[in-house]
Amino acid sequence: MILRCIECRREYPIDKVRHRCECGDLLEVVHDMGTLRKKVSSQLFDERLAKREFPYNSGVWRYKELILDIENKFIISRPEGNTNLYQADKVGEYVGIKNIWLKHEGENPTGSFKDRGMSCAISVAKMLGFKKVACASTGNTSASMASYADLAGMESIVFIPKGKIAFGKLAQALAYGAKTIQIKGDFDDAMKLVQEVCQELEIYLLNSINPFRIEGQKAIGFEVLQQLDWQVPDWFILPGGNLGNNTALSKGFRELYQIGMINRIPRMAVIQAQGANPLYTMWKEKTPFTAVKAETIASAVKIGNPVSWKKSIRGIEWSRGVVEQVTDQEIMDAKAFVDASGIGAEPASCCSIAGAKKLVKAGVIDKKERVVAVLTGNLLKDPDAVVNYHLGRLKGIKSRYANKPIMMESSLKAVRKVLE
Ligand SMILES: *Cc1c(COP(=O)(O)O)cnc(C)c1O
Repeated sequence: MILRCIECRREYPIDKVRHRCECGDLLEVVHDMGTLRKKVSSQLFDERLAKREFPYNSGVWRYKELILDIENKFIISRPEGNTNLYQADKVGEYVGIKNIWLKHEGENPTGSFKDRGMSCAISVAKMLGFKKVACASTGNTSASMASYADLAGMESIVFIPKGKIAFGKLAQALAYGAKTIQIKGDFDDAMKLVQEVCQELEIYLLNSINPFRIEGQKAIGFEVLQQLDWQVPDWFILPGGNLGNNTALSKGFRELYQIGMINRIPRMAVIQAQGANPLYTMWKEKTPFTAVKAETIASAVKIGNPVSWKKSIRGIEWSRGVVEQVTDQEIMDAKAFVDASGIGAEPASCCSIAGAKKLVKAGVIDKKERVVAVLTGNLLKDPDAVVNYHLGRLKGIKSRYANKPIMMESSLKAVRKVLE
């Protein structure tokens, strides 16, 4: 295992701290494919699933050799992963496709997929001997980091954009005891600042620019394959914000393909909110990458200058993938169906469903294909978005599927009138 620059291909050992290449570009973990080919198989992972011993009881560390082959004593795990894969008729009907599965990453320990990458990267922090960790966050990374830092006995520092973070996520950061710094500015400003801070002080950076975060998040794809008995679906659909997660899934599938565990790579569809769509614009118009000023109700993807855009585009090419955008109205309509199917997810997660619907309608996804949509975060992360939607109080959004609370006097007669 080494770290390699995605641009100039300079190499670095993994046991030295490095957030970027000397040339300034992004680093990624490169595994020894020859070793992996000999060591791993679907049988090995199925055996571990049956035994459930540490660290293989984690939906990340079960695939340890494919993720990060370090000594078990460094591993910090809650354990994460092992999330459900749902089939929901209501959502299928809404999207217009029969074979759709929802991979609910909101069922992770702190309520988002961030726990997978966090477990991996914080274990590296421990291996490297760090006592302090930091991240910039639209909310879920900070919630996850704060929890895992507690587990690891480390101090955590989060940089969040002032007044722009969903309530559930802020609550978690404070509750887990992270030093919470709200800056004047948006996520992109916070991201820039935290990189400077970590460069100058003895603090380990845990954003998805950290290549070990990406390694941990690959396990979402591995786990779905295992849940589908190692049958490869046609599509994976997921929201795109800082673009680490789709990068991770593409990398993971490509590696499985290279070692011969799968015989084709599923196509990737990355869905951006229209108000935070730099990847979509680049892909659609074939223009150079240009950052935007982000604005969307889906706060987890409200990112105008995504760190991993280069890795993301590369992964989309590997998989003959596509990029789509959806409006806030489409996100909240889709969310109403995800929620009312009894599953529920936060707004950003529902980009997947809104995007799936659009791609099926456009004929990009065939009605007969098998589709996995990733729900990235838990319903309760953003209670304001839910309640205000159902009360019809979201600016610029029609509450088409609202479930309004009923006001009445406290009497049986009044209740009977409403229920009958
Ligand atoms: C972080 C996050 C995203 C965006 O993932 P990226 O890897 O930044 O593209 C989407 N949804 C939720 C709920 C998230 O927490």
